[in-house]
Amino acid sequence: MKKNYQLPDPKAERNRRNEARRVDFCLEDDLRTLGIGKTYYIRTYGCQANVRDSETLAGMLEMMGFNPVASPEEADISLFNTCAVRKAAEDHVLGEIGSLKPLKQAHPEKIFGICGCMAQEESMVALVSERYPQVDLLFGTHNMEQFPHLLSRVMAGERTIQVESEGSGSVVEGMPVERSRHYKAFVNIMYGCDKFCTYCIVPYTRGKERSRRSEDVIREILAVKAQGAKEVTLLGQNVNAYGKDLGMEDGFSELLREAADTGIERIRFYTSHPRDYRESTIDVMVEHPNVMPALHLPVQSGSDEILKRMNRGYTSSQFLTLYERMKEKIPGITFTTDLIVGFPSETDAQFEETLSLVDHCQFDSAFTFVYSPREGTPAASFEDNVPLAVKKQRLAQLNERVGNYARRNNEAEVGQIRKVLCDGASKKDPSVLCGYSEENRLVNFHSDTAREGDVVNVKITEARSFSLLGEAV
Ligand code: SF4
Repeated sequence: MKKNYQLPDPKAERNRRNEARRVDFCLEDDLRTLGIGKTYYIRTYGCQANVRDSETLAGMLEMMGFNPVASPEEADISLFNTCAVRKAAEDHVLGEIGSLKPLKQAHPEKIFGICGCMAQEESMVALVSERYPQVDLLFGTHNMEQFPHLLSRVMAGERTIQVESEGSGSVVEGMPVERSRHYKAFVNIMYGCDKFCTYCIVPYTRGKERSRRSEDVIREILAVKAQGAKEVTLLGQNVNAYGKDLGMEDGFSELLREAADTGIERIRFYTSHPRDYRESTIDVMVEHPNVMPALHLPVQSGSDEILKRMNRGYTSSQFLTLYERMKEKIPGITFTTDLIVGFPSETDAQFEETLSLVDHCQFDSAFTFVYSPREGTPAASFEDNVPLAVKKQRLAQLNERVGNYARRNNEAEVGQIRKVLCDGASKKDPSVLCGYSEENRLVNFHSDTAREGDVVNVKITEARSFSLLGEAV
């Protein structure tokens, strides 16, 4: 007898996998009143993923009845949402937590908690447990949704150090969020990273790539749009890999198209990886003017040998081909990047290759770093053989080069009219307003009528090293 074989439907399979890993957040009734009459403070270090996580922590705290205050001195509970990407950032956090000891001694009832990427490092958990008795609560990125329960244990008098070394692989939906700005929203599209660049600790602290269902992402964008958001930034450690874990061929381009079709005024995404870029993503950017013409595209080095040792998965010429392709297809697109100097074995000639790449791309700005080994990463076993003085000298040279192009690019803006999403008064100079242009340039400007959240036409009148000055027109 002839059998009827049916090929599996890829979309149905994807939905099945999505459903299997999706968990809904739930806050029990007895936890909803735990914070009534109490206050909280959150200090956030590091990248946008941490900023977004802090918004979720704030959402949970407010759901429990806590109210926000501006400092640990005023707060009943203070959380330090940490970053582990650089050693210097960790030392800074430890210094700040160390300085809380007198406050804890004077007010033992105050609760101090550490969370975020540092809390996922075994060595850090041991260090904090033993040497920082002022810390009452420590939890990592893999069990953030357990925070209300962990906090209730601390409030009942139990010092709670609970870190899951591996996530369950699930994606938790429906967590509350207290966004810092109503007109700009970060929307996570995926968590974790599978790239394992040899210097980077993120795959160990944030876990494997887990994508959210596109329906959940789009629902969140529509919700923030309905609440007045004008700009959405799609977040992931490596957004171009979106959907790969779900078996999607070209998940990010599909998602970006759907996100753009919601009609939100501005869409950005962060961070891109040069290795996973697809032509279709560029096409979506070309076809949708609400996808902003500004890209953060980390290159890290201009030397193929160093890129290989970093396990970046592309050569400098592949990076440049992508760069040229985007410049050609998206007029006016701006680029920023990340660069590391002094990676193990980097020679003068290889550093010169990085400078040449910078000369070619003339980035608007760059996050530049001196390499420092992160315990537990493959590169930590490489001989860190570039002397610190050489690293510093290369960094200074690189910063000068990047700064020159940034200034030149800004000078070319004088006389242009740019659409700026106003962030309110500038922190540095409250007599002017500030905001970002579509090209993601910081613009300070004068206006008698503009308010935070308005999109304002600004005529650029002056260029500074890392910002522009203008007048609303
Ligand atoms: S892509 Fe590389 S640098 Fe970026 S988070 Fe993943 S491992 Fe780290």
